Amino acid sequence: MTDTTPAGPRHRVVIIGSGFGGLFAAQRLAGADVDVTLVARTTHHLFQPLLYQVATGILSEGEIAPATREVLAHQANARVLLGEVTRLDLEARTVTHSAVGRVTVTPYDSLIVAAGAGQSYFGNDRFARHAPGMKSIDDALELRGRIFGSFELAELASTPAEIERLMTFVVVGAGPTGVEMAGQIAELAHRTLKRDFRRIDPASARVVLLDAASAVLPSFGERLGGRARARLEAIGVEVRLGATVVGVDSTGIDVERADGERERIEAVCKVWAAGVSASPLGAQLAEQSGAELDRAGRVQVLPDLTLPGHPEVFVVGDMMLRDRLPGVAQVAIQGARYAADQLMRRVAGQPPLPAFRYRDKGSMATISRFSAVVSIGRFQTSGFLAWLMWLGVHLVYIIGFKHRVTTLLHWVISFLGRGRAERVMTQQQVFARTAIQDLGEDFDPTLPRVPKDRPGP
Ligand SMILES: Cc1cc2nc3c(=O)[nH]c(=O)nc-3n(C[C@H](O)[C@H](O)[C@H](O)COP(=O)(O)OP(=O)(O)OC[C@H]3O[C@@H](n4cnc5c(N)ncnc54)[C@H](O)[C@@H]3O)c2cc1C
Repeated sequence: MTDTTPAGPRHRVVIIGSGFGGLFAAQRLAGADVDVTLVARTTHHLFQPLLYQVATGILSEGEIAPATREVLAHQANARVLLGEVTRLDLEARTVTHSAVGRVTVTPYDSLIVAAGAGQSYFGNDRFARHAPGMKSIDDALELRGRIFGSFELAELASTPAEIERLMTFVVVGAGPTGVEMAGQIAELAHRTLKRDFRRIDPASARVVLLDAASAVLPSFGERLGGRARARLEAIGVEVRLGATVVGVDSTGIDVERADGERERIEAVCKVWAAGVSASPLGAQLAEQSGAELDRAGRVQVLPDLTLPGHPEVFVVGDMMLRDRLPGVAQVAIQGARYAADQLMRRVAGQPPLPAFRYRDKGSMATISRFSAVVSIGRFQTSGFLAWLMWLGVHLVYIIGFKHRVTTLLHWVISFLGRGRAERVMTQQQVFARTAIQDLGEDFDPTLPRVPKDRPGP
């Protein structure tokens, strides 16, 4: 076991996570009289809102995942450590993390926990084998392999039933991620791949968007949700609402309709875009501090985003439960900046800030090229203007000038042309994940587990 803490009298801040919460907290502490250690299980910051574009071949993974080390290279008071945090000890004020078998214990004076959330299958984790979620680069690349691979296998298939099964794509969850994913698969099939095959007609692919709820994009309200649904249907997506998934296997998905009738949809490629569950680190924090957890495992924090009895521990982003705030990037960014400011005032001996107040900057989702929905307070719009707003906002938040330039170039290729610049898929992306994990578990039992026996497309 190693302790790699820098020697010296400065206040030690440990940040867990390099997502929106972790990275923005670290950047806010630039120039502060503190030593910052950011521990994360990946070496990159991930711009999750554009994962679906990696999965559908528009963007490369590098464009949405800059190296955290590079982003913080010029911040002298910050260092980055690779590691899966396995244990938090609030009494001893230490964080234990592990990277490929090497266990490190890092002490802190203040801790900011921003470990985010994973996919939730609502107690049906076995569904994950056949319907991957979309939370990481691994997920997006695996889905890219499954989506493009389904067309490849359909070109080889010998019976109409087999072709139909391979060319039916089911997306579960009609929130922003599901809508964006379904819209992009439809555009891929009906527009991009139209001329690429000889036996099959990709334009005849069926894209089904399912949700147990009764509306598309419920958080955007009835009007925008209705427009999103109409636009999806116009580009050929079949929207099925009030449909609860009751079974998923390698060749299809079983749903129960609102009237209690069950139905099977034969489909090899399924995408799970419904439900999140906060990092299991939340349970450790709750157990040691007495904080409450909600059903999604989020930690109820005090008005200053700290834990009861532990003013030195902040929880921000998707793990945090406060004022029913949603799990969106702005909540993580604003919470992270607030925690960093509060912490700096404490270190400087200044009076604390008033309670955290979230400023809602609105929400947006794309449906297809040139079409999006935007809701900012009372202002609501949809269509081309909304799409331009979506484009601008996402360009601003992509980290790094070179990533912005190449992203813009790829958008021109995909949205003005009909190409996809990132169609590479390898057998490893589709099949080797399970094998690597098996190897990894023997080597390091703390590696995150992916359900085994994932069949390819
Ligand atoms: C597909 C998708 C689309 C989305 N679209 C939008 C959108 O359009 N608009 C929007 O506002 N929001 C969107 N969101 C939500 C938004 O991305 C999240 O709210 C935001 O990323 C939360 O930030 P966070 O820092 O709390 O968590 P994350 O960004 O998830 O970061 C968590 C970090 O913690 C690390 N980590 C986790 N566990 C451990 C551990 N045990 N040890 C070490 N490190 C760990 C992870 O590697 C990661 O670096 C989307 C999310 C997804 C998945």
